Amino acid sequence: SEQTHITLNDGNSIPQVGLGVWQTPNDEAAPAVKAALDAGYRHVDTAAVYENEEGVGAGIRQSGIDRKDIFLTTKLWNTDQGYDSTLKAFEASLKRLGTDYVDLYLIHWPSAHRGLYVDTWKALVKLKEEGRAKSIGVSNFYPEHLEKIIAETGVVPVINQIELHPDFQQREARAFHEKHKITTQSWSPLGQGKLLGNPLIGKIAERLGRTPAQVIIRWHIDNGLVVIPKSVTPSRIAENFKVFDFALSAEDLEALNALDNAAARIGPDPKIASF
Ligand code: NAD
Repeated sequence: SEQTHITLNDGNSIPQVGLGVWQTPNDEAAPAVKAALDAGYRHVDTAAVYENEEGVGAGIRQSGIDRKDIFLTTKLWNTDQGYDSTLKAFEASLKRLGTDYVDLYLIHWPSAHRGLYVDTWKALVKLKEEGRAKSIGVSNFYPEHLEKIIAETGVVPVINQIELHPDFQQREARAFHEKHKITTQSWSPLGQGKLLGNPLIGKIAERLGRTPAQVIIRWHIDNGLVVIPKSVTPSRIAENFKVFDFALSAEDLEALNALDNAAARIGPDPKIASF
């Protein structure tokens, strides 16, 4: 079966499953990206701070797949926030990636203590107008941060990429996003691997003849989320993409929804993160 896509609020289309490459050095990122593209992925999620944009670019070129057929995301790091510094950091990312545009450029964190995310957003709006970032969005933004950039520019981000997994479901954020036609993208979708041993997920997987990772990724898909599981192991990369030939029943989705637990956050709370 074919992979699924979501139409963003600017009309562009994003493949619902992409490869995440956090904590993957250049020499591992290139083969991981190539393995993903060989397995059928057409979406890769990196960031300047991952220090692997060169490896991601190399993997894309090694795959032989047309650049235009790949949805490539990178992110602006906090220390580069500000209007001019954002434009400069974007150029540096393109150079490292070896491409002349990205499909999606994200502000990595609001980093609100810097007081610069509105100016930074204005620079992303310019990059979108120039067509060098086909779509623009944010990551780790709370509704209050989203409201501020929308009020100041009238431009609504296409995506907010936030920590989200079956035991940390971010329902309030998702309801706010839905109201504003912002797509929710799940980072650490497998709970950084911690959820793979969950007994309920294991039971569902066993009954369906799937793996726990496939059940979790399918939960994201069935909830209308964009999901970017990370692996550098080719067999797992392929496994995580074999999720388009089944769906979870209403009963299984309901059982998984009951795992939600506000205390299950793994990463920093963007409201108190001071980096
Ligand atoms: P994840 O939830 O994707 O889990 C990854 C871990 O799960 C891997 O290290 C691997 O050990 C394990 N795994 C993956 N597939 C498996 C399989 N089929 N079987 C067994 N184990 C498997 O964690 P993540 O890397 O934190 O998140 C995914 C991506 O989200 C990142 O790579 C990055 O692109 C993005 N991300 C973004 C932010 C942000 O602030 N915007 C923060 C964290 C992550």
